[in-house]
Amino acid sequence: MAYAMILSACAATVSPLPSPVLAAEQSPTRTDRYIQWLGTSSWILSSGDDLVVVDPFFTRPSFVRVTASLMLPFVPSNFAYDPERIRAVLPELPKDTKFVLLTHAHYDHLLDVPYYINQNSGRSITYVGSLTARNILLGFKPSALDFVIAEQKPSMIKGRVRVTALPSDHAPHFFGHTFMAGDVVSPMTSIPSRVGQYLEGQTLVFLIDFLDDQERVVWRIFINGAANSAAGAEALRNHQSLLNEHRINVAILCVPGWDKVDDYPDTLLRLLRPEHIVLSHYDDFGSPYTPGEDPNDGMRFLPFANYDRFLERLKLLDTSNNYGYSIYQPKTGQCIFFPDSYSKASCPQ
Ligand SMILES: [Zn+2]
Repeated sequence: MAYAMILSACAATVSPLPSPVLAAEQSPTRTDRYIQWLGTSSWILSSGDDLVVVDPFFTRPSFVRVTASLMLPFVPSNFAYDPERIRAVLPELPKDTKFVLLTHAHYDHLLDVPYYINQNSGRSITYVGSLTARNILLGFKPSALDFVIAEQKPSMIKGRVRVTALPSDHAPHFFGHTFMAGDVVSPMTSIPSRVGQYLEGQTLVFLIDFLDDQERVVWRIFINGAANSAAGAEALRNHQSLLNEHRINVAILCVPGWDKVDDYPDTLLRLLRPEHIVLSHYDDFGSPYTPGEDPNDGMRFLPFANYDRFLERLKLLDTSNNYGYSIYQPKTGQCIFFPDSYSKASCPQ
């Protein structure tokens, strides 16, 4: 596949990062708007002094280990986060982090979160996720945890960023089956040690709205951590007035699972009509994080992601519907800067 980052005129600059530099730790210019992909569904989203982290996950155990933990319940598993691997990528949450958003509670979204809760316990960081995610995290008995259960309080503001969690659903993994489906209905009393304990819970999609002084939306990001069924996308219609408030400038879309449900991302795009689409979650997260992996030049893709065919579909949908969006295919670790900001050729230094 050719290097196919498709940029419309005046679109963002995209640049690779040396390992393991983090844009957020490099004193960004306060007017910058950027997003940075750290593999899997892990994102840093930033505008000015406000920063949001999504699904930070760097332990990335091998799929052999995951499968053994899932399929051989009689064998001791000790399925846990790996501080060394985490520290190699994102040892601390970035300085301006207001929220950590959790799209669902599967291990590739939640496993490393207890590390950050522990590491950043003295800071004012709000975690937002499902009741299930909260109940799993309580098994770690954190000394302090500012956690908002999205099913109870879907929208909140800190600084000049508002996040809204909306219920959606999760594409099946194989043959119509979703592994680790279900809820954890009461707080765990001990640390989970098997992958099967990281149940999905309510899958959420997020709107991240960066606001001006009058709390008007100036930049809006949508993210999902799993491909959604047509019904899961249609559920967003219940929030049409919110969607009408501002155009979605950036839609970060999960690739794997797209061909396991009908009409993904067709239904979603009909509702969202984003200005830019950024692809996500397509790298092989069964191996350690490696910055600079390029989807157009030898990236180790997640098996069965069918990345190329998803890209073709996106292009076809654009042509047949006149959407006019640009499509970004980030390398791991890459920053994407957006217009209306001080645009740079590299991550903030
Ligand atoms: Zn999942």
